[in-house]
Amino acid sequence: MSKSLNIAIVGATGLVGRTMLKVLEERDFPVKNIKLLASKSSAGKVMKFKGKDIKVEELKKTSFKGIDVALFSAGGEISKKFAPIAAENKTIVIDNSSYFRLDKEVPLVVPEVNPHHLKKHNYIIANPNCSTIQLLVVLNAINKEYGINRVVCSTYQSISGAGQKGVDKLKEEIADTNKVIGNHRIAYNAMFHPIDESGNSVEETKMVLESRKMLDMPKLRMSVTCVRLPIMGGHAESVNIETKKDFEVKNVHTLLNKEDGIIVIDAPQEEKYPTPYLVDGRDEVYVGRIRKDESNPKTMNLWVVADNLRKGAATNAVQIAEKLLEMKII
Ligand code: NAP
Repeated sequence: MSKSLNIAIVGATGLVGRTMLKVLEERDFPVKNIKLLASKSSAGKVMKFKGKDIKVEELKKTSFKGIDVALFSAGGEISKKFAPIAAENKTIVIDNSSYFRLDKEVPLVVPEVNPHHLKKHNYIIANPNCSTIQLLVVLNAINKEYGINRVVCSTYQSISGAGQKGVDKLKEEIADTNKVIGNHRIAYNAMFHPIDESGNSVEETKMVLESRKMLDMPKLRMSVTCVRLPIMGGHAESVNIETKKDFEVKNVHTLLNKEDGIIVIDAPQEEKYPTPYLVDGRDEVYVGRIRKDESNPKTMNLWVVADNLRKGAATNAVQIAEKLLEMKII
């Protein structure tokens, strides 16, 4: 990767944006210049990149001049308005919001899963939902080897998935045991994401539709329940997968351990298994508790954990940019 790029981060002051800046630096992504963009209220704030002070600028229609890649993480409305402006300027947008994810013209990509979809980009590429990314890295590996008939997944999601506002709500509720912000208290509780008239939460629907799109399996049978917990960072998932072919648990161990971006920690009798706390700040997807589901032949149970701000958002976006360079798309 010798070519270096002019990069912009839209939403640079947010939880994901700040992590993007860190990940670009840690992975030594070839950055020529970096532009940090946020709302008017953050303009003038100073953030550090590779020891240098960088002033945050207000996002404007003209912000993308000379920018090769813009990493967007400022919510759907900002993506809706500004991603087409950036794309018009021939800036490649890697968008963290859900706005473009199901658009047929927009590739939705996890680099370990479907990098070939990047070839069809039209200057906008979508980064999947955080819970979908970690699930897909594992589902794809199982699907390649055994085929998948059906997936049942329950999530245990941290509050940082709801952005800075979510983190602030949890802190405030912990500080005051009588405080309930919104309809349900998150501190010392378990709650759902907003549920629509279908009976599913938007998060649950996203996981199903995004998985089907990335795996090119529009009829994949999948049932998801998403739960928000008072954990600061890291999402966990209990996943039940019915395969087409028979499998041995020890072979699933070996298969997943060999896979790029997956680390297996699975010695539960010695209390060794991944937890959200353990994977904090890590880029890989962690898998543990690999078991046969004794109630159903050709079915396995897995416990899948990742840092939602890293692999679930910032790292995946930076890896997409790395893939664009590696595949000489940019
Ligand atoms: P956040 O902490 O609330 O940060 C939001 C960012 O958007 C801030 O930098 C904010 O800038 C910026 N912003 C808000 N209004 C703006 C405007 N009018 N113009 C320019 N910038 C504006 O949220 P987050 O958790 O980082 O999430 C950002 C996006 O990533 C969302 O679309 C979210 O769905 C997605 N995502 C999040 C996660 C996660 O785990 N958190 C995972 C995957 C995807 P100011 O500081 O100036 O207000």
